[in-house]
Amino acid sequence: MNMNNKELLARRDKALPRGAATALPVFVKKATGSEIWDVEGNHYVDFASGIAVNNTGNLHPKVVEAIEAQLKSYAHIGFPVLSCEPYVRLCERLIELAPISDAKATLFTTGAEATENAVKVARYYTGRQGVVTFTGSFHGRTQLALAMTGKVQPLRTGVTPSQAGVYQVPFPIEHHGTSEQDSLKALDHLFRATISPDQVAAIVIEPVQGEGGFYQASPAFMQALRKICDDHGICFVVDEVQSGFGRTGKFFATEHAGVQPDLIAIGKAMGGGLPLSGLIGRSEVIDAPPPGFLGGTFAGNPLACAAANAVLDVIESEGLLARANAIGQKIQSFLTDLKGAAGVLPLGDIRGLGAMVAFEIVSEAGTHTPDADATKRVAAKAKELGLLLLPCGYYGNTIRVSAPLTITDEILETGLSRLAGALKA
Ligand code: PMP
Repeated sequence: MNMNNKELLARRDKALPRGAATALPVFVKKATGSEIWDVEGNHYVDFASGIAVNNTGNLHPKVVEAIEAQLKSYAHIGFPVLSCEPYVRLCERLIELAPISDAKATLFTTGAEATENAVKVARYYTGRQGVVTFTGSFHGRTQLALAMTGKVQPLRTGVTPSQAGVYQVPFPIEHHGTSEQDSLKALDHLFRATISPDQVAAIVIEPVQGEGGFYQASPAFMQALRKICDDHGICFVVDEVQSGFGRTGKFFATEHAGVQPDLIAIGKAMGGGLPLSGLIGRSEVIDAPPPGFLGGTFAGNPLACAAANAVLDVIESEGLLARANAIGQKIQSFLTDLKGAAGVLPLGDIRGLGAMVAFEIVSEAGTHTPDADATKRVAAKAKELGLLLLPCGYYGNTIRVSAPLTITDEILETGLSRLAGALKA
């Protein structure tokens, strides 16, 4: 069948609701490693990684081999029915890697399930209802996860999620006018004015915000939150769905802060492209709920577990944590060189932790005034030049670079030169 993007888009628009949107008007034909080809044969360098999923690239041979081997035994049994070894092995490895002494882990399918279950466990353990999250956060699209999520457009619009006991305080972004002291003061006000801290089950934070714009919570801020949680018996929950699995140059971004959380929500990159998520927790906390409280029909699917075990092997054997730092440094210095050069759009803040790199597009050089429209145009132009880029950010003016950690220097260079083209004024 002869297919082109335009015809497929017309079919798509007829059959799918507009709410199920796709960033770019392109239909994929094939993807491998850090490269993608569309149905018309156009080539793209992948700086999106399927939203931070393909840390080990598309179809990593070791991941493919593990899935194929698992397919020869069984595809689905249902963990609530019979146990399977790849699930247990994965949890054993996750609790070794997690910055929590004495941990246990369990698996789900999506990131939203991971964050919702984190809250459910924290509520059970503490016997309290309150949950504090941050502006600009993204925790998922289901109702509780959406209530925790701190961005109206296009997520919460029209369905303001009413979930009792979920409150948001400002995430600190110094160059947009909110300091860490401002955030901590807002939390203090929340505890004085709205909900007593002894009614709060969890404070939930992304150590580096993903959809919110790759803003990092500093080690000092994470430590301050840990202390507040300790002082009031609150569970400290980190959402590492986007920042985990080596993206920031450490296995978990929380490790940069030197604190131990009570619960860690994980997902995205862990399944090597197959849907898989999980929750790691301090044993006392995650072991509190009774049998049957945690789980799901597809939770910890055996194929996804086999893939995830291979992902862990690849991260280790290919030294992807060090590679994340090298890639990140290269992208950041490329952007720093480009900033202020003649004929380039005005760039604002450039930031990154490991290979979680982002930059802002501003209306005037030397300011931090967001230009969300120009940011959208950059992503569209990048697509024309053969580069997949995802805009994000609380102010809509951030471009994130989430290249696979397995990207070769050569493909990275190609991607960066296409990026330079997309940033031409
Ligand atoms: N938490 C974070 C930090 C995320 O980035 C995302 C997805 N972008 C989610 C939770 C939700 O994951 P999912 O889409 O798999 O439900």
